[in-house]
Amino acid sequence: PDNALAKSGKQDKKGLSQLFYNNLIKNEVDADIANELITQVCEQLVDNNSVNDFINALYKKITNLIGKPSTISFEHAKKPYVVLFAGPTGVGKTTTIAKIAANYYLNYNKKVSMITADTYRIAAVEQLKVYADILGIPLSIVRSAGEMEETIKNYEDVDLILIDTAGRSYRDTDSFEEIKQTISAAQADEIYILLSMTMSTRNCKEVLENYKFIDDYKIIFTKYDEISAPGIILNALYYAKKQVSYITTGQNVPD
Ligand code: GDP
Repeated sequence: PDNALAKSGKQDKKGLSQLFYNNLIKNEVDADIANELITQVCEQLVDNNSVNDFINALYKKITNLIGKPSTISFEHAKKPYVVLFAGPTGVGKTTTIAKIAANYYLNYNKKVSMITADTYRIAAVEQLKVYADILGIPLSIVRSAGEMEETIKNYEDVDLILIDTAGRSYRDTDSFEEIKQTISAAQADEIYILLSMTMSTRNCKEVLENYKFIDDYKIIFTKYDEISAPGIILNALYYAKKQVSYITTGQNVPD
């Protein structure tokens, strides 16, 4: 709210509801979700609350919905720890994997390897190869589910394996079957689905629907730097009922 309103002290609930509802909509939160949040806040508050009471209650609702970010946990304490990344073409899988690889390799001294199953796009393999060469970490290219299992077995001395998958169109059901097989063969400890923040909520829902066959995954939001309204984060987490992990902010792979 603007300062003038904040300074004015007590407000009736209806006025505040409308103000904050409009604000959520302006930030591209889905109308249904905005409505639910505001209704819950109103139920919780008595009449004649201050703007601050309303903000605090709404803030709590939003932070509860978003939850704490959960990044790679290494919770199974096994070697190699296998992490797989999936999502539509162009969301930023390869770039994000390079960022995560660089972070664990350079800042945490982990022994990292990368595997790509994205063999449809030569450019994707080349791109990951460039990052692997710069970092001096191994990259394997796998073309089948069988090769995936074999490759992972060969990396038994590695701490962390990051797997890039083919991002074929999720509307192309044949290639989606292949993606399912790759995911199943990897037996990953953690799976991350990437969503670009430039996608529409409808598009995000379609993608999430397609990856429903994965029970347990976390969400990475990419291209935060390209958007002006972050509502998609709330929308996607609300519909997916999954945890957020990383939010990426740029094309550069640091260091
Ligand atoms: P993939 O097809 O999912 O592997 O996606 P890529 O990693 O090849 O990325 C597709 C495009 O998105 C490239 O031009 C990347 O530089 C760009 N990209 C990736 N992450 C980000 C990000 O956080 N912000 C912006 N602005 N661009 C990104």
